[in-house]
Parts: sequence; structure tokens; C-alpha cells
Amino acid sequence: MTLEVRDPEDGVLLGSVCTSTAEDVRRAVAHLHRHLQGEEWPLRSRRQALEKATQLLAEQAERFANIIASESSKTITEAEREVRRCIETFRLSAAASGELTGETLGFDDSMAGANKIGWYSRKPVGIVAAITPFNDPLNLVAHKLGPALIGGNGVVLKPSARTPLIALALVQLLLEAGVPSGRIAAIVSGPGVAEALVTDDRVDLISFTGGPATAERIAAAAGAKKILSELGGNNATIVCADADAIQAADAIVAGAFGVAGQNCLSVQRVYVHISLFEEVLEHVTRGTEALKTGPKLDRSTDVGPLISEAEARRVEEWVEEAKAAGATVHAGGTRRNAYYEPTVLTDVSADCKVIRDEVFGPVVSILPFISIADAVHAANSSDYGLQAGVFTQSIDQALDIAEKLHVGAVVINETSDVRIDSMPFGGFKKSGVGREGVRYAVHEMTEPKSTIVNLR
Ligand code: NAD
Repeated sequence: MTLEVRDPEDGVLLGSVCTSTAEDVRRAVAHLHRHLQGEEWPLRSRRQALEKATQLLAEQAERFANIIASESSKTITEAEREVRRCIETFRLSAAASGELTGETLGFDDSMAGANKIGWYSRKPVGIVAAITPFNDPLNLVAHKLGPALIGGNGVVLKPSARTPLIALALVQLLLEAGVPSGRIAAIVSGPGVAEALVTDDRVDLISFTGGPATAERIAAAAGAKKILSELGGNNATIVCADADAIQAADAIVAGAFGVAGQNCLSVQRVYVHISLFEEVLEHVTRGTEALKTGPKLDRSTDVGPLISEAEARRVEEWVEEAKAAGATVHAGGTRRNAYYEPTVLTDVSADCKVIRDEVFGPVVSILPFISIADAVHAANSSDYGLQAGVFTQSIDQALDIAEKLHVGAVVINETSDVRIDSMPFGGFKKSGVGREGVRYAVHEMTEPKSTIVNLR
């Protein structure tokens, strides 16, 4: 069977790829398994391959950005930024070779350690299954492949069926950079493929990024395997009474509507102190109305389409639900094919989907608060816990709020939409289990192995 890859903007056919079968998956895993048993791939060679991949990607940045902007819903400007980040992710992966050395162990501190010395180093878990979503179709793949490879693992990639071309281009580039074919394989979604991958006993770890419903299906099928999951968010940003309203409003517009809101860090719920509410709302509305929705390859476009018309229809339904429950639309609120205009809502009831669930579209709700305790409580009243933003001039207040927010990272004087590729990245609650961010992923994808010497 073949999978036709079409531009989500206009349906133009970009290419066709052969879909994999469950048998292809078993063969790919068997191939990696054989090589892992029999073939040394020294750390020096792994580092050199990733350094070479960093260089090759920098040389081919334009080609990679064009693939992203064609098959995904990113604008060309967003695609170029993603390629720059991916170069950084590979550079960090090469540099993470230093994470594997381990440490000597201080045995003389415990009774059982008398007359013993020892150390540990980090060893690969074995075969990593990397399953990735459509919205950052290059860098999120690199965040799995880079750490898995520098850690000495074999890795089988299953990218989103919506964005296979960029993922396959990256795997090809890694092979050209010197990654042995016995260490990396890519499979393309087809009937039974995902199931065959996650149920294969030779797979040691599943590194998944995607939605919570898929994560639950994977967990139910995977048995006792280790699973790392980077899932969704419905991130809150709190704007305190002493904040710079303009700075906050500009950041909210950028953080809510980048990649048409199809971003796990997207700003979805904004809690603004009542004294600043009108000012922030006015600036956010004005900033939103100034955004240009349009063709992805046009450099003047700010907001591209959603990944499909079906997704744009879903977002439309969620906004209609909020309106029916009393929400007011200040900007946007309309759909054209796969485009949904950046939308600003107020008066949104807490039980509406745009507050409760992950919108994954260009919709932000602005809500007033009176006490900080109420804002923190509202921000934490979510099944998700990925990231949050806090705007305030008071460092004491910022740190107090940051301590109380139950999320993987709190960003002070910015919104939730900040990811630095070297930081530990992940969330609490439904937002996932484990952490990415290159060196943290290397730790997750390797295990300490100790050597103990009995001194006679
Ligand atoms: P998705 O869950 O639909 O798909 C993700 C991947 O899982 C795809 O490759 C898909 O083919 C695969 N998959 C689907 N069913 C499967 C199964 N039964 N077994 C194994 N694999 C299966 O997600 P999506 O729509 O591509 O991406 C959007 C979601 O990803 C959002 O929820 C978003 O928040 C989340 N996301 C999270 C992060 C993060 O780092 N926290 C980053 C980006 C996206």
C-alpha cells in the first residue's frame, strides 16, 4: 500500500511513501536486535556521526524547511525556526556523550560496602521505539533519535502519518552522517504497524509524543515496557496586577497563535488581575486582529492553516460550544476550509472544552481574577500540567506562584510557550511521564550498570 502525502493547505500531492506492514516492523526490530547483540558502536563514533549530522542539516537547512512547510501546517518562517532548533538538538546530542561516564561509588559509607570499591557507567536500554506527532515533525523526532543514538541504542522511528517525508529525510541524513543501518530504522504508518511496534518484546523502551488518548492505548498494549510520554497541555498564563500589560499581551498573542495553536505549549487560558483585565484584553484583541492568516509559503503570513479541515471544524465546534454557554468573541471565531482565524474569548464557562481540554488550535480565553490564590487554583484546575507563565514585577510573587503551580516548568515574565532544547521538558498529570531535553532523555534511555570490586 502507499500513503499519499498531501499539502494540508490545498491538497496538492507532495509524494507517496510505501506504508509498512506488521511484518516490516518485526523485520526492522530483528535487524536492530541482531546488530545490538553483535556489533560495537563506540561512543566516539556515535558522537562523530551526530556532529556530522549537525553539519549536514545546517548545509541542507533550506531543503528541510521547505519539506516541513509543505507537508505540515507550519509557515515557512516557523519551519526555518524548527530546522535551526533541530540543528541545536543534534549538537546537544553529540555533546551529551559526557553523560554516559557515570561515577565512582562511595561504598565505605555503608556496612555492606566494607572492603569494596565500585563505579557505574550508563548502558543503552536496547531498542527504543520512537513515536512522534505531526506538529513539530522534525525537532520532536530529533529529540528522540539524538539521545537514543548517543546513548548507544537502536531506534525504530514511527513518525506521524501526516508528516512522514520530513522524518524519512532526517533518517536518511543520519545514515549519510555515519549512523550504521543496524542502529536506525523508520517505519511508515500502515494497518497494524503501531501495534506491532509497541507489542514487540524486543523493544525495550517506548518514547512517545502525542495525545493522551493514544498514550493510553500504547500503555494498554505495551505490557511491562518502560514508556516515556510527552503529551498535551492546556497551559495557563497568569498576569498579576503589577505586570507590564503590553509586554504580557504581546507575548500572549505570540504564544497562543504560533503554528495556529497546534503546539503543546500553546497559551490557552490567561488569568488576568481584574485591574489590568480591560487593558490586556484590548491589546491582545488588537494584536490578534493584526495577525495575517494566509498561505504558508508567504513570508508575510503569521498564522497558517490547521493540519486538516476536520481539525479546523473541531476547533469551530468547540468555540460554538463556548459561545452557546455565554462566551464573547473579541477576535476571530470564523473558519475557512482548514483555516481558523485566531480567536480571543472572554466570559468562558470553566466546563467548556476550550477551558477544560486541549484546544490545539488558535483559541485563547482571557479570564479575570481578584486574588492570586484564585488564579493559582484556576490554573491548577486542569487534568494537564505541562507549563505555565507568570507576569509580575515582583520576584517574591513570581517565585511564590511558581512554587504553587503543578506543572513541569513555570516561565516568569513570558508565557508557557518557551522550550529551550537543553532543559528538562515534560509535565505532570495527563501531560506525560518522564522528561526529554537532550541530557535528560539520554538518562531515560540508558540505565546505570555497576561494577563492584571485592578487595581481598
Ligand atoms: P496522536 O496521539 O494522534 O499521534 C501521535 C503518534 O502516535 C503518531 O505517530 C500516530 O501515528 C501514533 N499512534 C496513533 N495511534 C497509535 C497506537 N495505537 N499505537 C502507537 N502509536 C499510535 O497525536 P498528534 O495529533 O499527531 O499530535 C498532537 C498531540 O501531540 C497533542 O495532544 C499535543 O499536545 C501532543 N504533543 C505533545 C508534545 C510534548 O512534548 N508534550 C509535543 C508535541 C505534541
